Amino acid sequence: MLLCEFTQLDVPAAQRVGRVHSVDSMGAVDGPGLRFVVFLQGCLYRCRYCHNPDTWDQRGGEERTVADLIEEMRGYLPYMQATGGGLTVTGGEPLLQADFVAGLFEEAHKIGIHTALDTNGFAAPERAAPVLEHTDLVLLDLKQLNPEKHKALTGQENTVTLRFARFASEWGVPLWIRYVVVPGWSDAPEDVEALADFVQSLRGVERVELLPYHLLGKHKWEVLGIRYTLEGVEPPPPETMTRIRKQLTQRGIRVT
Ligand code: SF4
Repeated sequence: MLLCEFTQLDVPAAQRVGRVHSVDSMGAVDGPGLRFVVFLQGCLYRCRYCHNPDTWDQRGGEERTVADLIEEMRGYLPYMQATGGGLTVTGGEPLLQADFVAGLFEEAHKIGIHTALDTNGFAAPERAAPVLEHTDLVLLDLKQLNPEKHKALTGQENTVTLRFARFASEWGVPLWIRYVVVPGWSDAPEDVEALADFVQSLRGVERVELLPYHLLGKHKWEVLGIRYTLEGVEPPPPETMTRIRKQLTQRGIRVT
């Protein structure tokens, strides 16, 4: 049975078990300050540009307890505290193991650690709520606002993600929106306007992070024997990033 298929909410937070792909003890790009970043196993999206396809399989990774990860994280507390950092859980898609993440964040809060959830939002509100109870920041990946383009880009509808976005917004947790700019897939002026419209419909959005598509994870697809379908797509040129940034800032959105 997969860990995501049964509830652990009745298990004490420290004893919950999750499937962990890897840990980065000094992450600098997934939230404020220096961060202890936990990559969880499992994702139901199939983003064409994914640079972590080795996290997709829900049966992969290794089983670890919340207590075990907290113990490992303790060694880095001085760096986190000195830089205003904390703990980030990413993946894969962490909300597939929502009860585990809820436990991990609960225990992190007990020792005063800031918690950030990096998610594609593919989870029902009732699954996500126990996580948000202990989340200080949501890094929400919005892939595409156009439903058909989203399905073509990720293999999934965007309705669940958009519902999660509204739920998190109403919850009141600060949001950083992440948007990957892929030439021909998410860089059209109308794509950016749709993103701006949706962002402006949310409250709590502190910034939009524009991430240019890159090829750094492509070799993993080859290793795993999965066909890479963005063959020939190059990273966006600087002028495209400038144009998109301008489109958003003109709408009063803070872009980083
Ligand atoms: S949501 Fe993230 S981990 Fe999942 S396929 Fe997309 S980029 Fe990869």
